[in-house]
Parts: sequence; structure tokens; C-alpha cells
Amino acid sequence: MDTIYDSIETAARDLYIRALKDIPQDVRDALARTLKVERAGGNRTAERVMLTIVENIQTADERDALVCQDTGLPVFKVRIGTKLNLDIARLKDCLRKGCERATKEYPLRSNTVHPLTRKHTGTNTGEGIPVIKLEFVPGSDTIDLHMAPKGSGSENTSFLKMLNPADGQKGVKQFVLQCIFDSGARPCPPMIVGIGLGGTSDVAMQLAKEASTFRRIGSSNPDPDVAELERDLLDKINQTGIGPQGLGGTTTAMAVHIEWAHTHISQNPVAVNIQCWRGERAEAVISADGTVTHSSRVQANATL
Ligand code: SF4
Repeated sequence: MDTIYDSIETAARDLYIRALKDIPQDVRDALARTLKVERAGGNRTAERVMLTIVENIQTADERDALVCQDTGLPVFKVRIGTKLNLDIARLKDCLRKGCERATKEYPLRSNTVHPLTRKHTGTNTGEGIPVIKLEFVPGSDTIDLHMAPKGSGSENTSFLKMLNPADGQKGVKQFVLQCIFDSGARPCPPMIVGIGLGGTSDVAMQLAKEASTFRRIGSSNPDPDVAELERDLLDKINQTGIGPQGLGGTTTAMAVHIEWAHTHISQNPVAVNIQCWRGERAEAVISADGTVTHSSRVQANATL
């Protein structure tokens, strides 16, 4: 059984480094589409910004280097097969050790500090860090490990409002658009806008993070009403003219993703969490025997 814990630790280390270097294929495709749109729109500044982003990714690919200097705070989503009967405390310890090894062995810039004293841990880990979300999958005997190093420019543009239920969809749209205006260039657009609807205040924030960070661009919420709201908000956000890096243009957001939960009859929580153009995340599957299979980029429609 030690093998699977060793594999979790090594996979956590490798995913942290890979997520910082290898932009997911759906994000690459969306960036390539954005470049085409800005070029067709004739906005030379927006086109130049998008060309710089594309060149940034190509240079990172060629030199096997990080795409951006911000190594973020490590966030994991772990889907655990219930057949594995894992020691969860040990699993969390393995994820923490994997982050510490990535920071020391690669090495990565460490960002983690005490919130009051601002004293550095130097390890990219600390109290409550890495952030770990656990889900359990009945009948499965594998672990799906999803990792995202969440950078500060985008994480600092996070918002929560407990709307009045009577505010309805109109209130949700107004709040989200206000968040986008308040964010401006700070989350490094073209961005991915994650929205959490419903639940309690903390659940809404978690849903927004799931939506911004772990959903693939091109996916829609299975609920048709929610999917319609995603399309409508994307259209409205792209009419703001904020554009790539906030310098004007047609594409402020590459996607709007909404995740939702039921809520109290007298509550209407709405949370917004933004992901930057880097859209960093990486995944691996760990089998019961400890074999680690890293997901590779989908090359079929590769444009970058
Ligand atoms: S918001 Fe994203 S792209 Fe911008 S500096 Fe932070 S990690 Fe890098």
C-alpha cells in the first residue's frame, strides 16, 4: 500500500511543475481563436497582445520553461475511488510533501506567507495550503488528481455577494458585470470567468473556483437554463471592450463557466472567481498498483 502514497507524492510534485509549463490544449485553442478574432477586428493593440501571449507559450514550450513567473498557491481536486480505502490524512500529507519537493527540487518560487506577519514558509505550503478538495467516487479503484497553481492576479479578483432572492437573474448579471468592470486588467484577460450560484456563502465560492479553474473551455453546464446564462454573460462581458490585458479589444473573456447548488429560499449567493489567460491546470490518474498516467494535451485540433 506504500506504493500508492509514494505515487501520490511524486504525482503531486510533477503536476505542480507541469501545470506551470504546459498550458492545457483547450486553453491554447481558445487563445488561438482569440488571436484570430482580434486580427479580424482590426484592433492592432489587441492583436499584438495576443501575439505576445502566443509567443510566450511557444517560448516556454521550446525552452521547457514556466509560462509565467507566478507559481501561485497550489490547489488540488482529488476524486478518490471508494474501493481504495485510503488513509485521507496520509493522502493530504503526500500532496503537501509533493508541493514542497516541487518547490525545492525544480526549484519553484515560493509564495506562501503568514497572513498577518507575512513571514514566508519558503515551501509553497503552510497552514491550509495546499488547498485540497476531496470527492469520493463509488465503485472506482483509481485516484483522479487535478492540480492548479492559482496565480494572484486572477485570485485577487474574487467576489461574493449575498443577493436578495427578488434580485433574480437580472441581479446576478448586474453583479457579475460589476465584478468584471472592477477587475479590469488585473486578472490578465482574456480571462475565464467562474461563477458559483447558490449553496451557502462558502459553497458559492468553492463552486466559482471549480468553474474558473477545473472546467474545460468549450464545456457547458448540463442545466439548459444555466448554460443559457453562461452564453448570455459571455456575450455581455465581451461587449465591455476591456479586451486582452485590459488594453481594449473584442475578447475580454474566453469562457464563462457557472456551477450551482440549491440554496435557502431566502438566500441568493453569487460568487465570482476569475482565471487568467494562462488557465493552468494538469491532471493524472493513479491506479491501485501505484501506476501514474498523466493526461496529455489533446492534439487533434492543436493550433498552438
Ligand atoms: S494573472 Fe496569471 S498570467 Fe497574470 S501574472 Fe498572474 S499568473 Fe501570470
